[in-house]
Amino acid sequence: MTKIVNHWIGGKTAEGASGTYGPVTNPATGEVTTKVAFASVEEVDAAVAVAKEAFLSWGQSSLATRTSILFRFRALLDAHRDEIAELITAEHGKVHSDALGEVARGLEIVDLACGISVQLKGELSTQVASRVDVASIRQPLGVVAGITPFNFPAMVPMWMFPLAIACGNTFVLKPSEKDPSASVRLAELLAEAGLPDGVFNVVHGDKVAVDRLLEHPDVKAVSFVGSTPIARYIHTTASANGKRVQALGGAKNHMLVLPDADLDAAADAAVSAAYGSAGERCMAISAVVAVGAIGDELVEKIRERAEKIKIGPGDDPTSEMGPLITKAHRDKVASYVAGAADEGAEVVLDGTGYTVDGHEDGHWIGISLLDRVPTSAKAYQDEIFGPVLCVLRTETYEEALEIVNSSPFGNGTAIFTRDGGAARRFQLEVEAGMVGVNVPIPVPVGYHSFGGWKDSLFGDHHIYGNDGTHFYTRGKVVTTRWPDPADAPTGVDLGFPRNH
Ligand code: NAD
Repeated sequence: MTKIVNHWIGGKTAEGASGTYGPVTNPATGEVTTKVAFASVEEVDAAVAVAKEAFLSWGQSSLATRTSILFRFRALLDAHRDEIAELITAEHGKVHSDALGEVARGLEIVDLACGISVQLKGELSTQVASRVDVASIRQPLGVVAGITPFNFPAMVPMWMFPLAIACGNTFVLKPSEKDPSASVRLAELLAEAGLPDGVFNVVHGDKVAVDRLLEHPDVKAVSFVGSTPIARYIHTTASANGKRVQALGGAKNHMLVLPDADLDAAADAAVSAAYGSAGERCMAISAVVAVGAIGDELVEKIRERAEKIKIGPGDDPTSEMGPLITKAHRDKVASYVAGAADEGAEVVLDGTGYTVDGHEDGHWIGISLLDRVPTSAKAYQDEIFGPVLCVLRTETYEEALEIVNSSPFGNGTAIFTRDGGAARRFQLEVEAGMVGVNVPIPVPVGYHSFGGWKDSLFGDHHIYGNDGTHFYTRGKVVTTRWPDPADAPTGVDLGFPRNH
């Protein structure tokens, strides 16, 4: 029987009332295993109303109450890592070890949220003028919404809600309709941890649900992670509706390899970062820029390693790379490889037409490696979001930097070198939000914020870390004067108040 995934509103399952459902497919078999309820405007309104009501008490709850619940949630999440990873693998397709990795990185943000008391400490200046003190405090916003992509169905929601609720907000999550089960399991664990009903809600769906969140007058802020065109739309629409917005978009992440780099280490890193999770990561390396005479040797080392990757179902412990999310996406990825030669690239490895015995209906594609890709090629310009690595060649560091900085995207980037001076120059000169030095996927730890530049992020705040706390709170400054009874009356003074 087909499993049904329903909404989670007010601390319990809410059956879909709109009558509209979307299919959820196991990408390794191509089989529709689940149907997910799509929320109507009225169902989104119901979730926001419940969250608004819950904010009245949650926004006033003590830090001790909030953090004790988050500590219990952390313990439950830790105990249920495997189960959540299995849900991810069944709907996303990534291999189990990779799914466990995403849960672990989400847990880092829960760790951060458990320590929210330290981050929310205000500032106090005493005696700024005679008997006058000034305090800066930060307060929650109210109901905040999160809209998340398919590629990290547990981690990306956890980039948002632990900090949002730790700051005293209530939350409505609209996860990807392609792999919705993990978000509901997280909601159940939050409830088990003692989170009051209505503080965390999940509504599933498509544009109808998203658009209602973007225009709803009671939603105060929107966090979005997904593709660039939708991120731009979310930022424009939610801003026009007066909301605070952070909208993280797509990427084309470059890895520069300088002639002095350890080429074996660089090849290991390029292969892991390009083909891990079948390239469906916003921090995947999708373009290697080989600088100087090392190009041929580097491409050969990448080819040797890439050819050995074992592709198969994510629940097979011997698989290193799983299928792509949908057949349509698989076909789109394949079209970039098919067109690459005509665009002037050398096709070193062609992963199109790949299949896995016994799983012929899965969304499979093999490993593709394209060399000497011109910057005019679509395979270079677009975010492919699949296991396709483009190699570009340049004579100098400056030309390589120019390529990276000309990209409309600026999410992550990396440099591989033994030259500290070159690495330092790169980290200052490159136009990207996250930089790795001999680190191919520089995803910041929870207590540093994550975010790209240019078309990879719209809005002023990066996500989680201090930026997260700032995003989910607003500042207030309180100026207090307690006159001494012995003070002479100040009398009326129409001049602008001065401190003395
Ligand atoms: P997507 O933009 O298609 O979908 C993201 C969310 O937006 C989903 O919840 C979806 O239901 C909703 N959505 C889709 N179309 C919409 C529309 N027309 N109107 C309103 N809402 C809409 O992204 P995806 O395919 O799920 O995820 C992959 C993309 O996300 C890639 O581009 C990847 O780079 C990006 N991503 C970025 C980051 C980052 O941190 N910058 C992290 C993960 C993924």
